[in-house]
Amino acid sequence: MNIDQTKIPQATAKRLPLYYRFLENLQASGKQRVSSSELSEAVKVDSATIRRDFSYFGALGKKGYGYNVNYLLTFFRKTLDQDEVTNVTLIGVGNLGTAFLHYNFSKNNSTKIDMAFDVDVNKVGTEIGNVPIYHLDDLEKILDPNVSVAILTVPSSVAQKVADRLVACGIKGILNFTPARLSVPKNVRVHHIDLSVELQSLIYFLKHYPI
Ligand code: ATP
Repeated sequence: MNIDQTKIPQATAKRLPLYYRFLENLQASGKQRVSSSELSEAVKVDSATIRRDFSYFGALGKKGYGYNVNYLLTFFRKTLDQDEVTNVTLIGVGNLGTAFLHYNFSKNNSTKIDMAFDVDVNKVGTEIGNVPIYHLDDLEKILDPNVSVAILTVPSSVAQKVADRLVACGIKGILNFTPARLSVPKNVRVHHIDLSVELQSLIYFLKHYPI
């Protein structure tokens, strides 16, 4: 199973975690194979897209058999680095940041927030969900150089400044929950999740494009 990951289209790569989570549940329930229509129903991606996605990693479903769940999971684990733990840092322990520290991706044992930063002296020095909270002033001193992903849940007015410091520390990926649009060098990837925009957009679609 030697697949050149650079050949997997980005849209396909984005769906991998979705497939992965569903297949893990299937495996846990003892299922050994799955059809593209079953998968399609569960992850809400049409089955032609699933078949095309899976063909990129050499998983060719057999007619009347479907896909081998273990084969797919082995591939996904490798591709998504599920065998390695990726430590993530979180900046801004407000309402949203606190929720993330409690949640800490506990269903996904390969991703873990291992430290958090804030400027509020009442929060610095405490722990939430076993994650220690440090002062942002100490970011450069404390941040583990192996950590390359950060979650940003600070007020938007300081988001760019904090992002610049993260980039200078070697952070390569930022999950930005602030409404601010961040400017970062080309080798840094920002995924922007604005929860209020997502909610507004859902409400708009419900109103104007009823299913
Ligand atoms: P809270 O109820 O704790 O104020 P909130 O989510 O409504 O939460 P925000 O004003 O969005 O509050 O701030 C989020 C968190 O970011 C707060 O804990 C705040 O102390 C922290 N914060 C503010 N400025 C910075 C900064 N420059 N660097 C790191 N954290 C910061």
